Amino acid sequence: MVKKQFKTESKKLLDMMVNSIYTHKEIFLRELISNASDAIDKLYFRSLTDDSVKLVHSDYEIRIAADKDARTLTVSDNGCGMSCDELENNLGTIAKSGSFDFKNDPENKNGEQIDIIGQFGVGFYSAFMVADSIAVESRVYGSDEAFRWESEGADGYTVSPCEKETAGTTITLHIKPDTDDESYSEYMDEYRIRSLVKKYSDYIRYPIRMLVSHSKLKEGSESEYETVTEDETLNSMVPIWKKTASEVTDEEYSQFYQDKFYDYEAPLKVIRQKTEGASNFEALLFIPSHAPFDYYSKDFEKGLQLYSSSVLIMEKCKELLPDHFSFVRGLVDSSDLSLNISREMLQHDRQLKLIAKALEKKIAGELAKMRNSDRDKYEKFFAAFGNQLKWGIYSSYGGNKDTLQDLLLFKSSFEGKYVTLSEYVSRMKEGQAKIYYAYGDSVEKIALLPQVEAVIGHGYEVLYLTEDIDEFTLQMLHSYSEKDFLNVCEENLDLSSDEEKEKLKAENEASEDMFKFMKESIGKDVAKVRFSGTLQKHPVSLSSEGNVSMGMEKVLSKMPGAEDQHIKAEIVLEVNVDHPLAARLKDLFASDKDKLAAYSRILYAQARLVSGMSIENPSEVSELVCGLMI
Ligand code: ADP
Repeated sequence: MVKKQFKTESKKLLDMMVNSIYTHKEIFLRELISNASDAIDKLYFRSLTDDSVKLVHSDYEIRIAADKDARTLTVSDNGCGMSCDELENNLGTIAKSGSFDFKNDPENKNGEQIDIIGQFGVGFYSAFMVADSIAVESRVYGSDEAFRWESEGADGYTVSPCEKETAGTTITLHIKPDTDDESYSEYMDEYRIRSLVKKYSDYIRYPIRMLVSHSKLKEGSESEYETVTEDETLNSMVPIWKKTASEVTDEEYSQFYQDKFYDYEAPLKVIRQKTEGASNFEALLFIPSHAPFDYYSKDFEKGLQLYSSSVLIMEKCKELLPDHFSFVRGLVDSSDLSLNISREMLQHDRQLKLIAKALEKKIAGELAKMRNSDRDKYEKFFAAFGNQLKWGIYSSYGGNKDTLQDLLLFKSSFEGKYVTLSEYVSRMKEGQAKIYYAYGDSVEKIALLPQVEAVIGHGYEVLYLTEDIDEFTLQMLHSYSEKDFLNVCEENLDLSSDEEKEKLKAENEASEDMFKFMKESIGKDVAKVRFSGTLQKHPVSLSSEGNVSMGMEKVLSKMPGAEDQHIKAEIVLEVNVDHPLAARLKDLFASDKDKLAAYSRILYAQARLVSGMSIENPSEVSELVCGLMI
């Protein structure tokens, strides 16, 4: 028989398993049991729509058997089974690339990697921590062929036909010999197995059975005992969400979450909800502590598991979660839903809509609580999923603003920290009419913008928007607490007194011809040139007029099809009226128009650079500057 090689990643993981010094080797049993339970779920699922599956719920079981003489431990199930191809594909390679991310993290040196193993489901391969060879015999329900997969670890595996009477999968581990520091024999010990099942797999919904031996009084005797073996169900089968909150430890929640949703990190928050009345349901929800690798891709599917009286009826029910909370994982169990309800019917189900509404409210409430009571945690949450909340506001044209606006955080000039809009408003100065913001690539760059310096100089706080979506979100909100948002780089930023305004107006009118000339010298890139009274030390800067800001132009121009849409910010070149440069320009307008033309182009380039933009004609600008130098 030809020995086949494992795929590279699998081989590495296998190597780690085989040579593992990990102290929680015991988790292998949990992994095998949860695979068995998943396999039964799959067949049970199929039975809902496929009449050829004759099993009913109570027929399903997972069995454990230990044979100390043969040094084997066997875990079997009567679930869906695997075909020859599935054995190859599922056990010859690692299915969940997400769980393997840690491997690429340079922070993890070898020793630490092994510790991470215990934190997420490494699945089937973990059995190699305790076994020196593994045989998997499997038969797909409804098929009359069975196959045997066999491996002694990293050097490969074989697959061959075999005899198997019943459908399902039987996994036989040949347990490693004991060493000076490690007793592997204990995994064949009845008591140890029982306690491992209790510890890790108690909530599994199918019975986990084992033949156990008891000492019993011999029939008819009052003192003579005999040993009898009896079938015993080792798990309570009470799902974790059916237990009262005080019965479940944080660790158990994490374990359950990590197992079920293939995460290597504990959740940031566990949310439980139980409602009776108009709709009856229990929900167990988790807010992950990081975004899954595919979260911001189109492959990501939102949804919660849906159970009807503890029986899984849908793996991912997307109707239960609004898009803005699509990061929430978890499940809903309701006694109001019928077992074989179809997907189409579910979409229109009134009950489901009620549940979804209640969940949305609960999630928003819990996030608000976290924001108030554990700001560090909330910031971690926001770093992972904040953009989704903003997207929720943007894509609903502000429709979700009541739910979401107070959950937003923005960096601000106030102590450089994240602030909420409500915190911003509470600090607004008397007479401050607007909520000021600026957009840029980084907080550092924004803080250096001339207008930002000017606004801060007047004692106002500025929100620093660094994400592409930020400004679009604020546009959809229009205002917060009746205060409008204002981009400080907009032309109508107005920080001056009436008197100053009058003076500026007069200055601008007096230099109208000069500005017209300057604008023509620069070309179509600017809509206008004018004096500004707000720039403090900077000679020039750019602002925009109209609906599209410079930041928005930058974002929109990256979108597909942007070339055809001609989305352009109307750019205004502002010259600091109080800067000595102002007088110099006026002189040149009277005496040397050629030089003024060159100055105008250079000033425009400078203003672009100061505003965090690049210049399109660097060699031309360089030539102009040199021309002035020689
Ligand atoms: P994971 O369970 O995280 O997907 P595993 O390495 O534990 O990864 O298992 C890989 C795949 O092998 C599973 O996704 C499943 O398709 C299949 N598998 C494992 N055990 C069984 C089983 N007892 N019955 C049917 N399929 C199984």
